[in-house]
Amino acid sequence: MIICDTHCDVLWMRGFEPECTPCVTMDNMQKGGISLQTCALFSGTREAAKNPYQTGMRQLEIYRHLRDHEGWDQVHSPLEAEEGKVRTMLSIEGGEVLEGSILRLEEFAEYGIRMIALTWNRENEIGSPACDDTDAGIKEEGWKLLRKMAELHIAADTSHLNEAGFYDLIDHHSQPPMASHSCAKALCGHYRNLTDDQIRKLASRGGWIGVNFCPAFLSEDGKATVSTLCDHIDHMCQLGAAGNVGLGSDFDGINHTPVGVSSPAEVPNIFEELRARGYSEEAVAGIAGLNFLRYYERLGDKKQL
Ligand SMILES: [Zn+2]
Repeated sequence: MIICDTHCDVLWMRGFEPECTPCVTMDNMQKGGISLQTCALFSGTREAAKNPYQTGMRQLEIYRHLRDHEGWDQVHSPLEAEEGKVRTMLSIEGGEVLEGSILRLEEFAEYGIRMIALTWNRENEIGSPACDDTDAGIKEEGWKLLRKMAELHIAADTSHLNEAGFYDLIDHHSQPPMASHSCAKALCGHYRNLTDDQIRKLASRGGWIGVNFCPAFLSEDGKATVSTLCDHIDHMCQLGAAGNVGLGSDFDGINHTPVGVSSPAEVPNIFEELRARGYSEEAVAGIAGLNFLRYYERLGDKKQL
């Protein structure tokens, strides 16, 4: 089975949190049968946030080291994912890494970036985050970048973005948007989560949603198990997103993990729980990875034969 994960912060952790031990390791990914792990270049917190481009480049250097010296295989399309082989793909979390520049966007496209979370938790050249109480939508400069992103088949990731920006994309972006690491607000009222309407709109536009494993996004008391995580998947399926949902763990970006999924090695426990709930093998395979591959086909990716 092809298993894809659309968000983790291992590059940030390796570069900027030397006191932490990453759980996104080759060993854990192999144990869990992960086919595609998306690794974000994160715009940063504290001092690192003052120069997001440099912060992103530092994480790119770390990635290149892993790729060139530790056997991390880079793909330029999720369609290169294969069962039984661990591969990785790059994304950006926080559009300020681009410094509002088309040239920077083209530069990162060459590095293999295939997904950009337009904001993190700060307003930037593109838009405003969900944590700010604002109804400001996508900015003019943001649309210039978004048009170029569509041309380059780079997914517009709405995780962290505010609702006004989200609906701008639903209504006006030429490509279906996605949410790489977000849960359902109906089950846990965190500002980072998606409302039922947002989930329905993402599904009807052919978008995609990766359920975040962060216990604080999964349940209001901050306690979560594999079962809590599957409740969010269930909820999204009931809203019509069965073909548009998958996994966006946020491993190495979250301080706690649900009981039963503490690392990539334990991701298959989610599929066991879905099977126990009566999901068909076909539905499980979609959630595990095929829904994500099909999303990139809708963006225009083609399988290389
Ligand atoms: Zn995030």
